Amino acid sequence: MSNPLLQKHALPAFSQIKPEHVKPAVEQAINDCKKTIEQVLKDNTVYTWKNLVAPIDEADDVLGKLWSPVSHMNSVVNSDELRDAHESCLPLLSEYGTFVGQHEGLYQAYKQLAESDEYQTLTVAQKKVIDNAMRDFKLSGIALNDQDKKRYGEIVTRLSELGSKFNNNLLDATQAFKVHIEDNNQLSGLPDSALAAAAELAKADDKAGWLFTLDFPSYLPIMMYCDNAELREQMYRAFVTRASDQGPNAGEFDNSEIMAELLQLRHELAQLLGFESFAEKSLATKMASNIDEVMDFLNDLATKSKAQGAKELSELLEFAKQESGAEQLNAWDLPYYSEKLKQQRYTISDEELRPYFPKDKVVDGLFDVVHRLFGLTIKEREGVDVWHDDVKFYDVYDANQSLRGSFYLDLYARAKKRGGAWMDECVGRRAISETAVQLPVAYLTCNFNAPVGDTPALFTHDEVVTLFHEFGHGIHHMLTQIDAAGVAGISGVPWDAVELPSQFLENWCWQPEALAFISSHYETGEPLPQALLDKMLAAKNFQSAMQMLRQLEFSLFDFTMHAEYDPTKGDQIQQVLNKVRDQYSVVKAPDFNRFQHGFGHIFGGGYAAGYYSYKWAEVLSADAFSRFEEEGVFNKATGHDFLTNILEKGGSQEPSDLFAAFRGRAPQIDALLRHSGIAAR
Ligand SMILES: [Zn+2]
Repeated sequence: MSNPLLQKHALPAFSQIKPEHVKPAVEQAINDCKKTIEQVLKDNTVYTWKNLVAPIDEADDVLGKLWSPVSHMNSVVNSDELRDAHESCLPLLSEYGTFVGQHEGLYQAYKQLAESDEYQTLTVAQKKVIDNAMRDFKLSGIALNDQDKKRYGEIVTRLSELGSKFNNNLLDATQAFKVHIEDNNQLSGLPDSALAAAAELAKADDKAGWLFTLDFPSYLPIMMYCDNAELREQMYRAFVTRASDQGPNAGEFDNSEIMAELLQLRHELAQLLGFESFAEKSLATKMASNIDEVMDFLNDLATKSKAQGAKELSELLEFAKQESGAEQLNAWDLPYYSEKLKQQRYTISDEELRPYFPKDKVVDGLFDVVHRLFGLTIKEREGVDVWHDDVKFYDVYDANQSLRGSFYLDLYARAKKRGGAWMDECVGRRAISETAVQLPVAYLTCNFNAPVGDTPALFTHDEVVTLFHEFGHGIHHMLTQIDAAGVAGISGVPWDAVELPSQFLENWCWQPEALAFISSHYETGEPLPQALLDKMLAAKNFQSAMQMLRQLEFSLFDFTMHAEYDPTKGDQIQQVLNKVRDQYSVVKAPDFNRFQHGFGHIFGGGYAAGYYSYKWAEVLSADAFSRFEEEGVFNKATGHDFLTNILEKGGSQEPSDLFAAFRGRAPQIDALLRHSGIAAR
């Protein structure tokens, strides 16, 4: 029997992988991993890197390398059979994760190694792998006494139930509300695409006319374009009261008690593990080192954005007054007038920009950018087994012409391919002997429009930015020089720092010096005109302070609520939110607004006490780029510094140390404010 997933290939044999190969291969690989762990623990009494970490890494690498193409194909060439095969393995993988995280013998072995003399002789990266393992064991509750361990297990189970109940309530509340419109006079202002989608929804419900729901693609066009203020108000009230004690379905899907219990149990869990608060626990795996650092960061950004936010709001009020004579704006009027103002000031359509960004120009331009910055040369390799004809394979050579890594590039949308854009690992860098390393391979996946006829694929500027973003993740993965798998490339990089290289690389999409060779009109050969670029920059920063304040409101609410939780007071959700709003919001939320009851990121997802990460990463990337602004956007020495201090180091050191090594100081918020067009004061 030949299962291509169980044979040794340098690269996955995509054309041979069939759904029936998946489960047997995964079962066997997991078995091998478990056997390796038990064997390592049985064979040794004194644990070393070589007899503990290395053999387990090697077994995990086999599992990782066979699961990667399965999971990837499930995303990009999906079929019912493949989906079933993929799904049938998820419980096995999650069970293996628990097996490792809860393995007492393995924990004791790591503990011994962490406290050994050998530990002191290991490389920085190897030490970090062991430190991370010890941290993760601690967070998984394995160091607790039996009674606390039991309580830990109960809390974790209950938290996951509560999170999924929260999401279910939100989903049910979202689906419970519909507005059916039969008279299209009530829908003036809506674009044809939104009307067509609403007509489809009505048809699916056996109705004539138009149907609108609280799903974002249905809700948003109403708020932005519909001239009918009553309809906007009706939709707004329903949307911001979902799953709460307010609004059209008040009390029916109410998340209030779930949220209170979530906060209480998160706090108890954090204390059980030896943290003061859940916020402190959240920071154990992040770049930010303590609560004050995060709070100061958020408060500083908010303080510096407030004056401009107020100014943007008053401009909007002035505009609305001229348009309609309105003396004040309600919450459901803001997106509507904002869109009108934006259209008036910066009408610029994707269709105007597309001709300047033909595919070859953009892709070659991207390769040229990383050549100028980091000395890379990227060459297509023919004859590689891929999952679809459109997919290309490239090798990445450094300035010394050494091969550093490779990637698959899958640019176009098609049936059976998941939407969005992402970078994922195919193979990770790791030492395979004293002298040899396994080189990293990445998947770069986008969903752009494919070429039609003889016209090349033409990208919007947003798509160009997306490609650069994902390529930034890609070079983080591919250029790493770290040989310890657990902290090579993006592995082990805290998630408030992992977006640094990706958002960083986006900056070149806005630089005239780079646009000169990224863009070229596919018929006339002209680069993007400066006037269009200026308009794009202005549009990018439209109401940027108001948007900044909104994101900061979410972040401060999330973080404060988890940092200041006091079990004797119970939940203070509304109070904390009101306080944050009093301090920083320029737009007053109506009393009935229960935004928090639909804040799935923190109550139903993994962002609890971590929502600030979005802004944190933006500050890092803007500040890193500002050194290029000072020294030249294609300054080779600056590029080399970024390569050696950030990209090559992966997760081997604290990101704050890596950042400081590159920037010569701690991150500052000024560059982000400046790039956002916010004049700090
Ligand atoms: Zn990203």
